[in-house]
Amino acid sequence: MCHYAYSLSDQQPRFCFCESITMTSEMPVHVAEAAEKLKEGAETIDLMDFSQGELTQLLKAGLGEPGFRGKQLFQWLFTHMAQEFDEMTNLSKDLRSQLAERARVSPLKFKGAHDSPDGTAKLTFSCEDGAVVETVFIPADGRNTLCISSQVGCAMGCTFCYTAKMGLHRNLSTAEIVDQVVQARRQMGDVNGHIGNIVFMGMGEPLHNVDNVIRAIHILTDDQGLNFSRRRITVSTSGMVPAIKRLGEETDVQLAISLNATTDKTRSEIMPVNDRWNIEALLEALREFPLSNRERITFEYVLIKDVNDTLDDAQRLIELTRGIPSKINLIPFNSHPRTPFETPSEKTIDAFKQYLVDRNVGVYRRRTRGDDEMAACGQLGSPGEKEPAHVRKKLAKFRDESPRP
Ligand code: SAH
Ligand code: SF4
Repeated sequence: MCHYAYSLSDQQPRFCFCESITMTSEMPVHVAEAAEKLKEGAETIDLMDFSQGELTQLLKAGLGEPGFRGKQLFQWLFTHMAQEFDEMTNLSKDLRSQLAERARVSPLKFKGAHDSPDGTAKLTFSCEDGAVVETVFIPADGRNTLCISSQVGCAMGCTFCYTAKMGLHRNLSTAEIVDQVVQARRQMGDVNGHIGNIVFMGMGEPLHNVDNVIRAIHILTDDQGLNFSRRRITVSTSGMVPAIKRLGEETDVQLAISLNATTDKTRSEIMPVNDRWNIEALLEALREFPLSNRERITFEYVLIKDVNDTLDDAQRLIELTRGIPSKINLIPFNSHPRTPFETPSEKTIDAFKQYLVDRNVGVYRRRTRGDDEMAACGQLGSPGEKEPAHVRKKLAKFRDESPRP
């Protein structure tokens, strides 16, 4: 194995003219398996599932193609956003027809857009198995944001969140995560729809699907692909501690933490993840999270009436976050069907914010966007009639019901 050909830090093969390159010994299992399938032609491979380095390995091991083909194909998929192999004119006709037989691109089908009066658009896509993915385009002067999903539903069971009521249907593949960005670029148009920021704040817990999310981040930030700046990508998590460590080691994107409470008692009541990793375990992981000098972690704090909205909470919030380079993002609770929770009054929200401002804490209030179309934070998904048992049990306390046995 040539030293120059493979960087272990980002798992990207480097391009090198050395004839000794044999990457098979370093090939990740999913790439080796895909290469076998490509060879056999028995099953189609989703080409958007692979980073540039992996695509290079795949074409080499699966079809005997030289290293530079991977880069060419990667550019077709992510710079030119080609949908047909025939468009890929610098690939030989033979390779194009082999790919057309054995591989596919673009796993999502655009179903429609629901526009809110504030300009927010909820885009819905269907996957090949019929699962529905929701992605939210949020326009802003200067820089639009795309809020993408990492799972269909979510397993984490936060009691205030609409998506939790679906339970987890499945993880999205790398291709399904990245294709939300590619398709949104196509749908929104290049000029008006220019997407500057990507936030993993749609459906699902990104760190519960960490392998696919990390690979998607490598594709999104590759300068031969979608070329997003690492500063413009934010992963939001409810606090899966071991995966936070991995995210810090394997990517350098921005981190947002859904804190949402200032005592373990309240946090465990509204976020079951806190029973596994409590506030102190979470803060410990954040103190170790690699940040460059000017970066800050974002603490998201959903303000819920009579649950976490007192000035004592504000004071504890200051104490908890002290020493961690951070800012606080207050999100007034967005209502949705069948919830026992309410949004605090404007007066309470203002007082909470002002308490932090007066003590020189970096705080801002997130404007609610897309609420009319159920496209705001915590409003995505399509739950059935009943939430999963673990969500129902936690909610019973707030609904004044006894938990079912
Ligand atoms: N699962 C990840 C990312 C998706 S949720 C996470 O929890 O961080 C994105 C944000 O929406 C989180 O900060 C979450 O706390 C917030 N959220 C969930 N339900 C909400 C609701 N009903 N109103 C306001 N914010 C909500
Ligand atoms: Fe999942 Fe995030 Fe909703 Fe919690 S807030 S249930 S982690 S999507």
